[in-house]
Order: sequence, then C-alpha cells, then structure tokens
Amino acid sequence: MALKIKVKKQYLTKYQNGYPLLSSEWIQSLPGGIREGDLIDILSPSGQFIAKGYYGKQNKGLGWIFSAKREAKLDGSFFQHIISQALTLRKSLFSDELTTAFRLFNGEGDGLGGVTVDYYDGFLLVQWYSLGIYRYKKDFLKTWFSFPFVKGIYEKKRFETSEETSDFVGGTEAPAPLLVKENGITYATYLNDGWMTGIFLDQREVRKRIMDEYALSKRVLNTFSYTGAFSIAALYGGAAHTTSVDVAKRSLAKTAEQLQVNGMDPAKQAIVVEDVFHYFKYAKRKGLRFDLVIADPPSFARTKKITFRASKDYPELLRDLIEITAPNGMIVASTNYAGFSFQKFKEQVEEAFRGTKRSYQIRETFQLPVDFATIESFPEGNYLKVLFLELDV
Ligand code: SAH
Repeated sequence: MALKIKVKKQYLTKYQNGYPLLSSEWIQSLPGGIREGDLIDILSPSGQFIAKGYYGKQNKGLGWIFSAKREAKLDGSFFQHIISQALTLRKSLFSDELTTAFRLFNGEGDGLGGVTVDYYDGFLLVQWYSLGIYRYKKDFLKTWFSFPFVKGIYEKKRFETSEETSDFVGGTEAPAPLLVKENGITYATYLNDGWMTGIFLDQREVRKRIMDEYALSKRVLNTFSYTGAFSIAALYGGAAHTTSVDVAKRSLAKTAEQLQVNGMDPAKQAIVVEDVFHYFKYAKRKGLRFDLVIADPPSFARTKKITFRASKDYPELLRDLIEITAPNGMIVASTNYAGFSFQKFKEQVEEAFRGTKRSYQIRETFQLPVDFATIESFPEGNYLKVLFLELDV
C-alpha cells in the first residue's frame, strides 16, 4: 500500500495543474514513519488520486511529484523514458561542435525534481538534492551509463550526509582540469574539487551575447567574477581590457588559468581579489569608469565586513555600479535569486536609478537557456534573470 498525502483545499487546483513540489505548508499531515525515498500518492482533500510523488526533504520542500499515473515508479524504465526525452530536447547542443558543456537533465523541468545532470565533454556531473532521490542512484546511473557517449560520472551530494565519498562514481576519470568548450571559448573545469566546477553553465547565452555584441573595444568590469568567465567572453569579443573582482582568494589563480587556456596573457588583465564593495570605494576615489559593467552576485554572501542579500541589497549594489559606469555605458545585471520574479527585479532596477541623474533602456533580457528546462506550473524553477541596461547618459 502506497503512502498517502492529502493536499490542503486551497492548493488543490495548483496540484491539479501540475505543480511539482511537495511544499510543507500546502499539504496536510505527513504519514507517520515516512522515510526518504518513499513513494507517495498525492490526494485531494476528499481522497481522490491526483499524482505520484516521492518523499525527499531538501531546502525547497518535502519532495517532488513525477507522474500523473498511480502505478508510476522510479525505476529503470521510467528513468530511460525521461532521460531519452531530455536528450532529445538537447539535440542541437550535442551537434554543436563549439559547445561541449551544458545541462543534460534539469530536475522537475525534465520530469523529476531533486536531481540535475550536467554534461562536460563526455563526463557527467550528477547533483543530488535529497537523500530520498539519492536512494534511486543505482538505477538512475545505470540508465545514464547505457548511453555510449558517457565516459565517466561524478556526483555532488547537496544534502546533509555523514558519508565521506569521492565525487567520482564510475567509468573513466576526467582529467583535471577538464577543458570544455562553450561557443568556441575554452573553460578549465574541475569535476572533483569542491562544490563548484569553474563554470556556471546557465549563463551560456549571456556570455555569448557579451562576446558577440557588447564587448568590442570596451573597458570591462566583471564583479563577483569567480573564475572570470564573463571576462574571457568579453575578451573574445574584442574588449580593450578587463578587470575581474572577487573576494575569494582562489579567483586569482582560477581566472589566470581561464585566460591561459585561451592563449591570453593574465598579466595584461586586472584580477583583483577584494570585496567588491571595497573595490567600488577605490574605483570612485580614483575616478575609474567602465564601459561595460557586469554583476552576477550570489543570492546571499557574507564577507568579513559585509552581508549582501539580493532580496534587499540589489538596488544599493546597482547604485554603486551606476557611479562607475561611463557615459552611455552598459550594465549587465544578473540574479539567480528565486524569490524575485522578473517584474520584481525590474522594479529593483528602477528603484536603483531613481535618485541618480542617469536613466536607462533595457536592451535585452535573458532567462534560463533551453537546456535548463523549466515548466510553466513551476515558475520558481526559472530562477535566472538577466538585464542588459544601456545608460542614456
Ligand atoms: N559571475 C560568476 C559567478 C559568481 S559566483 C560567473 O559568471 O562565473 C559568486 C562569486 O561571488 C563567488 O566567486 C564569491 O567568491 C563572490 N563573492 C561573494 N561575495 C562577494 C563580495 N562581497 N565581493 C566580491 N566577491 C564576492
């Protein structure tokens, strides 16, 4: 007998319309003794079957719905089905010789929340967001290994676990660094080196746009630069000079490496290891101005001196950026904060410009690319919001 969970009356239509997340506030009580990975029948308050889900506690909720069929299971044939669909959706990326890194499976957007899979030139990086979904590891990975293009698989467990295992799970090991390509640009990545690989794959289209359209002859400031991916794209696009600023010590060597693997000389670019808010003070004091300013901060970050919360501090960040943007310059403002709708983010930008003497036009907007598949019934999953703001004066 499957475990059963009834949804609360006021959220019934949401679930009937395909909302995939089991949200703790939207359901009635959890069955006693429920364990991570257990399958659940999701029912209406009157006991009618709505959908099938699994229990897996993560930051976003209590688990995910994965089928409208009562008999659905998380087994090899289900995985085969959703993975084949996911691969079809990414056909054009597979045949793009200039791009060898992208997302292969995006959780609920591809039919199963709680797990993502990224492609790094034949190697896969699987990220598990709950112990519940991790319980299905064997069948899930077996399905992936059945595809001949898979050379090896790595994983990251993004849930609390005391198990200390290597990120490498099978196949052949990837070189470190593993050089991947994105629109002709080379990026050095590491699949077995902490939480991050060296590149955020969801910004591919934004990097391409900067390279193709907005970087030529520009003095570029890349804030929260991490490994400098936006700076490299700008240099491919003919930027005159780039300054990359990140507070993490690793960013210096990482950014130098990204430049080197592209045959560029790190000594000719500025790589600054510093709190960006401290750097803004320096830049203002020195009267520095940049033609293209990029800001892609984390949703939340705490340094020794400053706590940045995208939810409330974005306008303040923008005001700093505006001050050091040259006349008619451009600001690329990005956020991955899921709590903002695009509309709300645009309002934050408006708020930031109010009270400055500058005005702007939105030249372009970007959200997640097609490989970061999302579904309409779950707009929160479409977290990325990017605005290209062209300053009028
Ligand atoms: N824009 C990057 C990704 C940013 S990840 C890219 O496209 O690859 C977020 C980065 O912000 C991290 O590298 C972190 O070290 C940095 N960071 C967080 N708070 C910061 C601060 N106050 N000043 C400078 N960098 C900061």
